[in-house]
Amino acid sequence: MRVGFGYDVHQLVEGRKLFLGGVEIPHTMGLLGHSDADVLIHAVCDALLGAANLGDIGHLFPDTDDAYKGIDSKILLSKVMDALAEAGYRLGNIDCTLCAQQPKIAPHIPAMRKAMAEAMRCDENAISIKATTTEHLGFVGKEEGMSAYAVALIEAIAPC
Ligand code: MG
Repeated sequence: MRVGFGYDVHQLVEGRKLFLGGVEIPHTMGLLGHSDADVLIHAVCDALLGAANLGDIGHLFPDTDDAYKGIDSKILLSKVMDALAEAGYRLGNIDCTLCAQQPKIAPHIPAMRKAMAEAMRCDENAISIKATTTEHLGFVGKEEGMSAYAVALIEAIAPC
């Protein structure tokens, strides 16, 4: 078994849709990025890649590559799962925390778990999503951006 950790931040701006955990969430602002800027999925991707020692999301999907411009991050997550399987690993579980002052995240968590489980081709029970505000402190609290943390456990498909 191996463990990995992921962290990501994206800036909040007006005029962008908000995607979190593979779900579009109604809000007055959205996250800025080369892809759909789904900060939660990006942290999960980095946790999975880290667990398998396969580099990071920026290495696999460079933001200089037009192929990834505006891309649905669920596609990136699915590709990360492909890379994991190719390296001989399967998912144990992931646990992640989204830091956002607004909007309220809790009502969207079931849909986010479902969307991510579909992209990862795993049971929803393998995906834990939590959310917190930062009590109006820092860039998250001032609604300048959102951040996310994730840990992933993976296991070798066959013992080496
Ligand atoms: Mg990112």
